[in-house]
Amino acid sequence: MPRLPDPAAAAAIAATPVDAASRAEDLVREAAALDARHAGATAEELLRLALRERVAGDVALVSSFGAESAALLHLAAQIDPAVPVVFVDTGRLFPETLAYRDRLVAMLGLTDVRSVGPDDATEQRLDPIGALFARDTDACCGFRKVEPLDAALKPFRAWISGRKRYQASSRHDIPAFEATATHIKVNPLASWSMADIAHYMRAHALPAHPLVAQGYPSIGCAPCTSPVAEGEDPRAGRWRGQDKTECGIHVSPAGTITRNKA
Ligand code: SF4
Repeated sequence: MPRLPDPAAAAAIAATPVDAASRAEDLVREAAALDARHAGATAEELLRLALRERVAGDVALVSSFGAESAALLHLAAQIDPAVPVVFVDTGRLFPETLAYRDRLVAMLGLTDVRSVGPDDATEQRLDPIGALFARDTDACCGFRKVEPLDAALKPFRAWISGRKRYQASSRHDIPAFEATATHIKVNPLASWSMADIAHYMRAHALPAHPLVAQGYPSIGCAPCTSPVAEGEDPRAGRWRGQDKTECGIHVSPAGTITRNKA
């Protein structure tokens, strides 16, 4: 009688680095083909392709409910208010951000907002007094942001991000579709300017994040976000004085993070 395959061994074989690399290459090819096919599509068209036609498969929208999040959330809610929206609550966010999330969710009628974050045991083990950010921001972002987001995105093949090219020099070449090592990423607002966002928010009477008026054009965790002066990159207040410019959730297919400000 033939022996049944050992499920644990099969899983180990399925997860070999060779398979992971080949999957990443497939995703890169798929993202490039989608990007070429839909060059020139508007933000709304890209969202329809992702949410209605599922061109990249099951998809979630990832939002920080930050300074410019309302525009993308509003666009998506017009197409599908039941879109899964993943919000990473690191436990170190400004209270204004949590209140803004609740306000937008109610206003836009979003029905599937998933607030995820580090579990208590992990937080107690890695950052019991909440000061890890002061000595190792990568480790802090790792367990507070990257790992909870990775877990939340596991059921999905693709995710929608609100990144724009104008936001920082490290973002100047964002395409509409790109690949990570594990997902297709859709960037409907990549070509939008700060003026486009402001115009859209005015046209749809969307409320601003309360900290924008206090000089925060980009809003992350309270300990790592400072106000920005006139003429600075909108993200200049994030991890100010450090080499770090991204939290680690935006990675290349090889798993590398863009860190340069030049
Ligand atoms: S932004 Fe700062 S506080 Fe937030 S997770 Fe990263 S290092 Fe920690």
